[in-house]
Amino acid sequence: MAKQIPYVDYLVLGDQPHLVANECSGCGARFFDRRNACAHCFGTEFRTVDIATDGELRSFSIVTFAAPGVQVPFVSSIVDLGGTSVRGNVINTPPDPDHVTLGMKVRLATYVVGTDDEGTEAVNFGFEPVL
Ligand SMILES: [Zn+2]
Repeated sequence: MAKQIPYVDYLVLGDQPHLVANECSGCGARFFDRRNACAHCFGTEFRTVDIATDGELRSFSIVTFAAPGVQVPFVSSIVDLGGTSVRGNVINTPPDPDHVTLGMKVRLATYVVGTDDEGTEAVNFGFEPVL
């Protein structure tokens, strides 16, 4: 099996790929990037928490124009994963309103973004409909 590295550092690969967030010990706010202080309560203590892989589509837009090299159309979305909002694309389904609907159940899925000269795969995540 090819060596794989996560495309973003809050994606954890392995048998059960999932996202991790930094959760503020003071107020519970969650951030996917590294923070020195909480944007809500200015607390400085964080712990790492696993984010649920199943959720619900909260908002989306079908993107038909993008930078050169980006395949269109694709579905940009915000998904609620057990109370944590995550931005990601809806994947593994046709990018049209017949297949992508507000409130639909989705699940985290990974896909290979690209492979370098040594065969190492960069892996990103998206959300696929749960049928
Ligand atoms: Zn806080």
